[in-house]
Amino acid sequence: MSDALREPLVDTFGRAHRDLRVSVTDRCNLRCTYCMPADFAAWLPGDHLLSVDELVEVVDVAVERGITSVRLTGGEPTLRPDIATIVERIATLSRSPRISLTTNGLRLVDLAEPLAAAGLERVNISLDTMDAERFARLTFRDRHADVLAGIEAAIAAGLRPVKVNAVLMRGVNDDEAVPLLRHAIAHGWQLRFIEQMPLDPSGVWSRAQMVTAEEILTLLSSAFDLVPADGRGSAPAEEFVVDGGPATVGIVGSVTRPFCAACDRLRLTADGQLLNCLFSRDETDVRAILRDPALSGSERRARIVDALALSVTSKRAGHGIDDPTFIHPTRPMSAIGG
Ligand code: SAM
Ligand code: SF4
Repeated sequence: MSDALREPLVDTFGRAHRDLRVSVTDRCNLRCTYCMPADFAAWLPGDHLLSVDELVEVVDVAVERGITSVRLTGGEPTLRPDIATIVERIATLSRSPRISLTTNGLRLVDLAEPLAAAGLERVNISLDTMDAERFARLTFRDRHADVLAGIEAAIAAGLRPVKVNAVLMRGVNDDEAVPLLRHAIAHGWQLRFIEQMPLDPSGVWSRAQMVTAEEILTLLSSAFDLVPADGRGSAPAEEFVVDGGPATVGIVGSVTRPFCAACDRLRLTADGQLLNCLFSRDETDVRAILRDPALSGSERRARIVDALALSVTSKRAGHGIDDPTFIHPTRPMSAIGG
């Protein structure tokens, strides 16, 4: 390996990139209103999706360039039939990164154990409500009990700590901040509230409608004593110790308290495009490199390094949601990889 390959992925603002988010599919078995239209059918064509070999090669090169953590996401990553193979192949790379998964939990009853055995360390599971009927309205699927069972399966498989992500929406589920945290503490989940971002499929997101980090703190403070925990690092969540601990709660204020200055993330979409930000409109095409028959193996790896470097060096200082020129990304969240 040349020295150039070992150079970390540092952008023009000095941010070293350590975290690669890999979307393995844009498909999903839920239709969360803030993520995907209920009647969505514009799936990526199957041959556009990276194969296991292709995505593992990108991860391998990225790891050589300093990536230490890989999060598999989607769409719903567990819908990919080869998800355990993907985990295992990444876990057995010569310099394997830490591997985590973001999932809606529906398939974890069957998959938590095989994924843990394959090398998965942790899961983030998304759940916005403790009310089954509300869940069905929010996701267009009557699967609340399956998520709860999936969370239990993840805990039983040792994928701890299980983090549960909740998006609060005004007038929809913002009355559940306190009950969600009570339930999470009682069941050993690490709860994180995430501000809703302008990634909704209909483009109707508005700052005025968004439940802000400040509001979430106020809601929680009515029932709990919250003290800021130390050491946020590059983590997006601000952590708070609840009622003296050991329980904590995280609040991800992506919009009102952006963590862009410490962002160490790069994203690979299921169809092989590198994105340096959830809100970036510029994509760097790695799939074309992976499928170029004229390239030898070493040439291909060198070109992947170039693509990673290009993506990182063109990263902007921040997501720019507050900029009047901000343009809603064209891909829905499910196709970017959350
Ligand atoms: N299907 C998996 C899941 O739901 O966990 C992984 C993909 S999903 C796109 C990843 C995360 O993005 C979920 O926690 C979801 O709640 C969050 N998400 C989706 N759309 C969002 C939005 N507009 N604002 C904030 N978070 C969003
Ligand atoms: Fe599917 Fe996750 Fe999007 Fe919900 S948030 S529609 S579970 S990809």
